[in-house]
Amino acid sequence: MKTLRLAHLYPDLMNLYGDRGNIIVLRRRCAWRGIELVVDDVSIGDDLAGDYDLAFIGGGQDREQLLVCRDFQRRLDQFKGMVDGGLVVLAICGGYQLLGRRFLTYQNEELPGLGILDIETVGGQKRLIGNVVVKVKLDGSERLLVGFENHSGRTILGPGARPLGTIERGFGNNGRDGTEGARQANVFGTYLHGSLLPKNPWFADYLLEPALKRKYGDDFSLEPLDDGLEDAARTAAIRRIEEIHRRRWVPGWFKR
Ligand code: GLN
Repeated sequence: MKTLRLAHLYPDLMNLYGDRGNIIVLRRRCAWRGIELVVDDVSIGDDLAGDYDLAFIGGGQDREQLLVCRDFQRRLDQFKGMVDGGLVVLAICGGYQLLGRRFLTYQNEELPGLGILDIETVGGQKRLIGNVVVKVKLDGSERLLVGFENHSGRTILGPGARPLGTIERGFGNNGRDGTEGARQANVFGTYLHGSLLPKNPWFADYLLEPALKRKYGDDFSLEPLDDGLEDAARTAAIRRIEEIHRRRWVPGWFKR
């Protein structure tokens, strides 16, 4: 049986809006193809000892991030080595910010990041909250991601990182430049809770495939699954977001 190993980083501290649902999806989509996904929880003080193929870190409040960033720092060299070796990483919101160079909270506390992503985040007074639709360009085709964001941090990308996508609805990285998330090699960061992967199963496969190719060779390809139900749910969610957006701008709507 084929096996993948995933390190779930700080699951007890970094888990907002059901971010752990992302792990459930990864495990399930592997199981449907006869692949076992072994998940290890790695929190403060634990060893990151294992030949991992994937790592996941969810979102967290500033105070949890403060606790996590100290412990994360001591893993810097090891984690960098794993990323250089092709580890596939998915990081959501607070976890995404901690993969960057630093996060300066709105209370002016400086949280050092790992610098695995060339991004920097500064907290603002007004939180950026709401539903998000993101357009992602992949090998010539376009796909949509839908999710929910709630963050004070405004993230700016440096030249080393590419945006994950562009904003159709919502704020994204900073509410100004129209970008959402970041990617660098196999490391992906995004502000999208949701949870992200249950709403966007195509993206789960997009993460699993490089991990499987690295382990089982370039010829490996994932068996397609019937995502009819999931795709219909995503389309309905996007339609609802568009509808709300449209109604907000119809003059006189509030009087009706
Ligand atoms: N504490 C961070 C912020 O507010 C991240 C929040 C989150 O993970 N939702 O920017």
